[in-house]
Amino acid sequence: MITGASRGIGRAIATAFAAEGDRVVIHHRSSPELAEALRAELPGDGHAVVQADLADPDEVRLMVDAAAEALGGIDVLVNNAGIFLAHPIMDVSYEEWQAAWHQTLGVNLLGAANATWCAVRHMGRGGRIVNVSSRGAFRGEPDSPAYGASKAGMNALGQSLAIALAPRGITVGTVAPGFVETDMTNEHLKAPRGDAIRAQSPFGRIAMPEEIAAAVLYLASPEAEWASGTIIDLNGASYLRS
Ligand code: NAP
Repeated sequence: MITGASRGIGRAIATAFAAEGDRVVIHHRSSPELAEALRAELPGDGHAVVQADLADPDEVRLMVDAAAEALGGIDVLVNNAGIFLAHPIMDVSYEEWQAAWHQTLGVNLLGAANATWCAVRHMGRGGRIVNVSSRGAFRGEPDSPAYGASKAGMNALGQSLAIALAPRGITVGTVAPGFVETDMTNEHLKAPRGDAIRAQSPFGRIAMPEEIAAAVLYLASPEAEWASGTIIDLNGASYLRS
């Protein structure tokens, strides 16, 4: 089951799993046409589409239960859905500041935590949880501090649950991408600062969603048990942490 699979990185992850012969549940919030079109074009059959606003805990529970019913259980949960809202501290009102923090943490962190609580109840030994975090958790997000905090929280969530779920044979891994070419970044990349963004990496480019999907597939594989608790940097050497 992949959250936020209607577009971008989630769509690439769904495509990669289906290409391996897996049955996939595609989650979306408000893109039924995109989600259905993806389901129709994925190789193999038995794929399903579910809808939920991840900021709503009741919707998350119904969504995960529906996914488990469609698949007959859940082997892999990929917490990929996320939002990025600009709210520079000196530019926004106190009300706008509240709203940005509430929405961002509600989707990116609480949504992932709640989906995980629900999904592990449908998982047996060998279950896999993969979280899509961000380079921003380490490097900082000056214009979107709630985003950076939500992803830092997601990293800590993943590390905590890697320990908590190991006795049940379930692993938790995290990927932390830098800029990836998706709807989330399109506007930034077209703007004059697009060249500066590409120059952040010594490779002179940003990532394609398929490069993130490849790492998610590894963390979801049977061979990845010993990688539980890890955070894989996928940023083209644009930000090296010790
Ligand atoms: P995207 O193209 O903007 O797609 C976002 C996905 O999340 C969509 O499927 C969207 O569903 C879903 N979503 C948004 N708000 C939601 C909500 N309230 N409830 C449920 N689903 C919701 O994003 P992306 O660039 O592929 O990013 C995917 C993940 O990678 C995010 O967690 C993001 O933070 C992370 N990431 C991205 C980059 C990057 O440069 N793109 C870098 C680092 C990390 P709808 O289609 O229905 O709206």
